[in-house]
Amino acid sequence: MSYKLFIPGPIAVSDKTLRAMAQPMIGHRSTDFVALYQSMQPDLQALFFTKDPVYLSTSSAWGVMEGSLRNVVKKKVLCCMNGAFSDKWLDVAQRCGLAASGLKFEWGQPVDPAALRAELATGQYDAVTLIHNETSCGCMSDLPALMAVLRDFPEVISIVDTISSFSALPIKKDELGIDVMITGSQKALALPPGLSIFSVSKRALERAATVTGRGYYFDFLEFQKNHESGMTPSTPVIPLIYALKSKLEDIKAEGAEVRYARHARLNQTVRAWAVAKGFKLFPKEGYGSVTLNCFANTLKVDLVALNKSLKSKHGFVIDGGYGKLKGLAFRISNMGDETDGTIAALLTALDAVLAELGTK
Ligand SMILES: *Cc1c(COP(=O)(O)O)cnc(C)c1O
Repeated sequence: MSYKLFIPGPIAVSDKTLRAMAQPMIGHRSTDFVALYQSMQPDLQALFFTKDPVYLSTSSAWGVMEGSLRNVVKKKVLCCMNGAFSDKWLDVAQRCGLAASGLKFEWGQPVDPAALRAELATGQYDAVTLIHNETSCGCMSDLPALMAVLRDFPEVISIVDTISSFSALPIKKDELGIDVMITGSQKALALPPGLSIFSVSKRALERAATVTGRGYYFDFLEFQKNHESGMTPSTPVIPLIYALKSKLEDIKAEGAEVRYARHARLNQTVRAWAVAKGFKLFPKEGYGSVTLNCFANTLKVDLVALNKSLKSKHGFVIDGGYGKLKGLAFRISNMGDETDGTIAALLTALDAVLAELGTK
């Protein structure tokens, strides 16, 4: 049962990272833990392009996505929606009992800055949720343009999901004015799932201090208080923190710029291959993700049969379409540790499987 994932999360984890996790436990209130936590801050802040603290949450990303709403929304939140994860965020806000509205776009269409401006101008909102890279349909919105709009509404706290784009391209938190920036371990960081990493602006902490009902587990003020002593509020997932430390070393060794260029290049390799086959990029032209490609299944390939053969004969797995796109689109991840060699091996295998299924 050994195969390699090319789905957009969780993704393949290197042997080095797996070995890093297999170290003896340390107490989470020990000086060893404090040293480990504090040693990672400069590298994390560099990747977030921020001077604000970077917190570690033992949860999947959704924990912090939900927690952020509970920390900063007093009046009403506007949820920008253009795919499965962003659609769900509105549902989550409503389940938290918050006043919330959706700014809706078709799946695969980017969030439109002019529409965002018009809706915020109604003055109803004190927070916005925004997904940079909608993994479900491979659509990457223009974050700088959207943040330029948000900077004109200083009373609105921005909660930005960079879960599947973080570390694959520069996202300049402080320069763009992002208040809450969230990522997760199992996407481009190529760690196992279970750790969410996020950074919160001073403005957002000040807002949180005036909000009741923040709860405990995701309370920003608890994260800040513990951060000041180099710790997390509760017992964290220490093996994943070892893995993160190891990955930060990898990123430093490769160089962030080289890492960004590698993601862009491999993304284009996959895109060119699929377009040459006759598939069409699913998201709007110019808004394709750099960490994955979502293609419309224009050749009407049996994606279940494709994945079955790809897995059993070649040991690879791609995604056969998320939610309502199941069978209608497929996604291939190029995030994390992929190289020209691993992507070439996947495409060679896909060529063989497509030929076997009778697709040229
Ligand atoms: C994967 C993903 C999530 C959800 O992350 P979990 O770790 O499953 O909670 C949210 N948003 C985006 C854009 C994602 O890609």
